[in-house]
Amino acid sequence: MNDLQKKIKGRIDAAHRILVTSHIRPDGDAIGSSLALALALISIGKQVEVVLSDGIPASFRYLPGSDLVRTKAQGDFDLIISVDCSDLQRVGKALDGYRSPDIVIDHHLTNDAFGELNLIDPTAVATASVLARYMPAWGLVITAPIGANLMTGLVTDTLGFRTSNTTPEALRQAADLLELGVDLSNLYFRSLVSHTFQASKYWGAGLASLQRSDGIIWATLTVADRKTSGYTGNDDADLINIVSTISEADIAIMFVEQNKKQTKVSWRGLKPAVDVSQLACQFGGGGHKAAAGAECSGSLEEVQEKVLAATRASLQFTP
Ligand code: 5GP
Ligand code: MN
Repeated sequence: MNDLQKKIKGRIDAAHRILVTSHIRPDGDAIGSSLALALALISIGKQVEVVLSDGIPASFRYLPGSDLVRTKAQGDFDLIISVDCSDLQRVGKALDGYRSPDIVIDHHLTNDAFGELNLIDPTAVATASVLARYMPAWGLVITAPIGANLMTGLVTDTLGFRTSNTTPEALRQAADLLELGVDLSNLYFRSLVSHTFQASKYWGAGLASLQRSDGIIWATLTVADRKTSGYTGNDDADLINIVSTISEADIAIMFVEQNKKQTKVSWRGLKPAVDVSQLACQFGGGGHKAAAGAECSGSLEEVQEKVLAATRASLQFTP
């Protein structure tokens, strides 16, 4: 065990009440990593609260431990751990009134090391993969319910083991989890394939807006599209995963209107030479080389104009 691992184990051993948190708009890796770590800590006798600023979406409530999730912390904690989150701002309101995390566990290239102890591996496909690698060394046993959460992180961040960063380690970890009895097929279907009728109608509106120029393909989703389709989330319902399958693009972008002054942007780099994490950083966001996002101030039209100009400029310098 290296020094960082020893320190993390020491902090876990000494703690009684532990707060586990992750990022706003939590995805499969944020939720899976939080719940896996929380369940494992509970099984060694710790009191644990999982605090996610936006709570847990209904579509992930089948995961073991999902009833542990709160939107606000209560009481004192002698250890605060953040998973799958690249900076303090992205924790949202989860740590309002509390100190910065004692331990940060993540795999985002753009992580700014906002914890006291920072375990960040940008080569890992998911934070769940970092946890699967180190939990045993911290005395945390991976059982089937914990494994279901880890598998969800692995499957969602790799889009079903098909992203270009998929490693032999991730596939071995998935194989080990399968041996534990984790139902890969079911978790895969529920987290990546299945979606509601309303989400499909919403996708329809987004697909109708598709545009293309200079190697960039983009789509927009408005507040009105959500009203018309009956989709209750404020995200893109994962439409970016469909837009990114269009073969003519170097970069795919999704613009989701939040209100008149706020627009969520998602970028996907579709060629190995493209790095969209730097683009997202220009707009105060972050992420990975091939997948990044930002919450931008400005109307849909304003943000779209600025983002498209910056994206075009970035492609000029891409070989
Ligand atoms: P998505 O576009 O699906 O929301 O996110 C793609 C990747 O970028 C994910 O790894 C996500 O955590 C990261 N990301 C998305 N939005 C933001 C943001 O506003 N700030 C930061 N730091 N990362 C983001
Ligand atoms: Mn992740």
